[in-house]
Amino acid sequence: MQKVYLLIILCFSVNIVLAQRYSPVIAQQVKKVANIPEKLLTYEDFGPKFTGSLANSLVNKWLTTYYQNLGYQVVQDSFKVRNQWASNIIIEKLGADTSTWVIVGAHYDSVTDSYGANDNGSGVVATMEIARLIAEIPTQLSVRIINFSAEEQGLLGSEHYVANTLNPNDNISVMLNLDQLGGTRYQDNSKITCERDEGNRVSTNDEMSFKKTDTLAQIFRDYTVLEPVFGPAFSTDYMPFEKNGYVITGIYQESDYSFFSHSLSDRVFNMDTDATSQVIQGALAASLYFARPLDNGSVSSNFFLFPNPAKSNFHFLVDGQDKVLYKLYNSIGQEVASEEVFVGTKIPVPSVSNGLYTFSIYTIEESYINSTKLIIAR
Ligand SMILES: [Zn+2]
Repeated sequence: MQKVYLLIILCFSVNIVLAQRYSPVIAQQVKKVANIPEKLLTYEDFGPKFTGSLANSLVNKWLTTYYQNLGYQVVQDSFKVRNQWASNIIIEKLGADTSTWVIVGAHYDSVTDSYGANDNGSGVVATMEIARLIAEIPTQLSVRIINFSAEEQGLLGSEHYVANTLNPNDNISVMLNLDQLGGTRYQDNSKITCERDEGNRVSTNDEMSFKKTDTLAQIFRDYTVLEPVFGPAFSTDYMPFEKNGYVITGIYQESDYSFFSHSLSDRVFNMDTDATSQVIQGALAASLYFARPLDNGSVSSNFFLFPNPAKSNFHFLVDGQDKVLYKLYNSIGQEVASEEVFVGTKIPVPSVSNGLYTFSIYTIEESYINSTKLIIAR
């Protein structure tokens, strides 16, 4: 009997944890991720994109125009590699807090003899979709998307950015890196590696990296069909951030792409683009989750409560919901009543004193839907 109780309590608490994390707003944006193979092919068609090549600057131009068409201001963060110019591409989406940032990075260069569809067209296309779909959602934190160049020459773009461009006064909540999101054609692509900072140069940022990566893994479970596995962060653009003490996390494909990597075979037809699309959905969900959407679930705005003032009973109607959780707050924001109710049924006025209250409704999973003032006058 006690075991049964324990099980019930356990299930209940697990539900609460998941409920707090799951957001209809994020789920709705994730569904909008689209046309991944087409975007990957466009990137591939530029040819090998090594730093200093014409294809590299054409991809820069392509991305710049794409971001500008979405309404972003594009900053070119230029630097020299041997005798040639290279440039990181930076765009920003401001949140309510304009000094705390989520940085999402993906290099856009490839090695000399590679189309780079997976390394790193997959990461580039992810940032394109994140830029498009995050723009619609008000967030608490600000988001900075950076497409680094010269990653393949030894992380030169991200080294340059952290050393010269990043404002040391910026509060960086996390740096999420997207490099080789996979999957590989004809292989098992059901898993995704979530990368965490296991030591490296600085140890003070490890614990928070583990926490952020745990969250990242949970987001993949919540919003995609992929199963997260953990791996160590290494050898891509988060490393310059790590050695300067910033908190990092990243995703990397789990299936074996080594046969095609850094070769002319790194092409879309050797990828499993369904898997890539899933990874990109997870990357978008993580970016949004880390940035904290402000309105965490406005499922419906059509909301009507009557009679108001209410004496002994009231009703309310709301679009798209059968059963909701209501919470009643007093004038100083304290919750004074809450109950799960069916929409449209007669609801007895809770036993609180007469006065003005805020009546808020939530989904059963506790995602906020809407609020109205309710006057109780017996
Ligand atoms: Zn790469």
